[in-house]
Amino acid sequence: MHKKYLPLTLVLAALLTMLAALGYRALNPATPAISLAAEQEKQIYLTFDDGPSTVVTGRVLDVLKAQNVKATFFIVSDRVEGREDILRRIAKEGHTLGVHSKTHIYTQIYASEEAFLKDVESCAKVIEKVTGVRPRVYRFPGGGDGHREQYTALLKERGYGVVSWNAVCGDEEIPNASAEVLYRESVKTARGKQPVVLLLHDSATHKETAAALPDIIGYFKEQGYTFCAY
Ligand SMILES: [Zn+2]
Repeated sequence: MHKKYLPLTLVLAALLTMLAALGYRALNPATPAISLAAEQEKQIYLTFDDGPSTVVTGRVLDVLKAQNVKATFFIVSDRVEGREDILRRIAKEGHTLGVHSKTHIYTQIYASEEAFLKDVESCAKVIEKVTGVRPRVYRFPGGGDGHREQYTALLKERGYGVVSWNAVCGDEEIPNASAEVLYRESVKTARGKQPVVLLLHDSATHKETAAALPDIIGYFKEQGYTFCAY
């Protein structure tokens, strides 16, 4: 080949390689290039149920603040009285407030459609009255207790997004779990999930959850996750 054609040949070869790669990607959505993009957008939602409580919610908020991470709190509104400042702190520090329940008593919540909607609305009202924020997300107490499908449509009609979870720290599932156990359970159950929606609790008995939180956040930061709130 004559030397003066060499640069043009190289440009053509590069173009053909690029086109081939693009064509290949279009035909094969699961190619490594696409997976790499997904890998770069690893997301985790930290979700706390059953608060507010004085000590544990306060500690959780301290950790989130120190780590500059936002989370979502699903509130039990019967536990708000006397802890209004904690609820306001959650909102003020940029976290999301969601509805969990007024009472957290399954037999009452799921007694009828009417009882269910009353439970949701009275919790939402307390959150709005105390913080000025109208909640837009909901989490079923007890995961829905067999009523999930029946009530999801009602929630959607009223503008709520229903938030489930796909990973747990184990603070309800494993009796007397230490912070170390909760950390390991979080890592284990989050594996392969995208995005990770991690279930944690900030009610009064969950001091170990607050203690595990720095390590849990540290691990997911190290793994390149972005922390999200609803
Ligand atoms: Zn709950």
